[in-house]
Amino acid sequence: MADTTNWRTARGMRDILPKDQLRWQAARKEVEDTARVFGFDRIDVPVIEYADLFDRSIGSDTDIISKELFVVSSKDNEGGRPQALRPEFTAGITRAYLQNGMGSLPQPVRLYGLGPVFRYDRPQKGRYREHTQFSAEVLGSRTAAADAWIIYLGWTILKNLGLTDVTVQINSLGSIECQQLLAKKLTAYFKPHSAKLGEVDQRRLVNNPLRLLDSKDPAIAQVAEDAPQSLDCLDKDSKKFFSDVLSYLDEYGVEYNLNPRIVRGLDYYSHTVFEYTLASDDGQQGSLGGGGRYDLVGALGGAPTPSVGMALGMDRIILAQATQKVKIPVNTGYCDTYIIHLSKRGRRKAQEVLETVHKAGLVTLHSADKTSLRGQLKSADKVGAKYAVIIGETEAKNDMCILRDMRSGIQEDVACSDLADILYTRLKNGRGSKKAA
Ligand code: AMP
Repeated sequence: MADTTNWRTARGMRDILPKDQLRWQAARKEVEDTARVFGFDRIDVPVIEYADLFDRSIGSDTDIISKELFVVSSKDNEGGRPQALRPEFTAGITRAYLQNGMGSLPQPVRLYGLGPVFRYDRPQKGRYREHTQFSAEVLGSRTAAADAWIIYLGWTILKNLGLTDVTVQINSLGSIECQQLLAKKLTAYFKPHSAKLGEVDQRRLVNNPLRLLDSKDPAIAQVAEDAPQSLDCLDKDSKKFFSDVLSYLDEYGVEYNLNPRIVRGLDYYSHTVFEYTLASDDGQQGSLGGGGRYDLVGALGGAPTPSVGMALGMDRIILAQATQKVKIPVNTGYCDTYIIHLSKRGRRKAQEVLETVHKAGLVTLHSADKTSLRGQLKSADKVGAKYAVIIGETEAKNDMCILRDMRSGIQEDVACSDLADILYTRLKNGRGSKKAA
């Protein structure tokens, strides 16, 4: 046999196997349903954008851009303008807002995206080169209520997904002026420690000392513990804004923890910044998501458009669900109906019935090659079918079938033409299947 060990996923990439799909489907459905009831509309933005979009918005000094951007090479390089795989959604959503004139819509515009993002990270548990993010943005609102709404949205999703010990770590960076003051204080504070700083942190000390506050280097993290805090640099308006955000969060019942170390890795934030963490996390997986207030539309040359957004890391949520042994909140049987035939004529009829049931959106299996009732009932049981539909010679002749509830064993005669409707009605509450139009 030929050696196939060479055919593996590329480094940092992974398959999501059928056994994990129900959990993923449930999580995707939850984020989409909750985003919709919170008033967000879905937007799909391309996986590939011009790389300078990410450079301009996320900041060329961040890890995401300086180390982790997947630059795409193409034969026709658009006159040398490099393209890259998106490392997050916010930049693409902002570009779409500008490009499609969404500034002239009633504001704020609430948008969400869901899909893969790519970071050329060092792979480890909970850190992949391709991962899935849910990203929600409120564009065109400068109110503290919008910040609270976004934070509450993520909190609700995490709760609904069954995670029990979620906390919001929250901080305020204040206005640009507050950040400048903080940067000055931080530079003065870290300068005496500059010999301890590695090459990256040395650069940060000059370009963006705020980032030293979330340095991964344990020696610097220790120094950072006593560093000046952004909350001490807030001006009156920034203080008022932040205290409004917190009081709205209190009203929504969101549990938060004031955390001066949260500065977020990206350049574009001001005022509120936050992360969702698990109290039980051992620090291995990091946060489940995070976000903050920004004006990227303005930064990209558009009219000032204060915005607030957040992203949830779906892969980490699913890992956390597994650790916390969260039951999947949908019916786990992957088979609604199993169709059983008992003769040649029954088989032809079964195939006809199968088509109508599939059109109704119900997961339905049938084995054309099996013949014994016992064998087929066993198969139906094995796949967890909720109903079996039995069609023998007589049933086929009369355009009827026997509908068997697999749990109770109760059987009833049903006209084939009514079957899809009956099954749909009985199953829809449990599964949320949609009837085909
Ligand atoms: P960020 O934009 O870096 O704040 O990422 C938002 C969320 O995405 C994080 O809180 C993580 O849950 C998740 N995330 C970020 N990077 C990765 C990665 N390399 N692999 C898996 N999940 C990630």
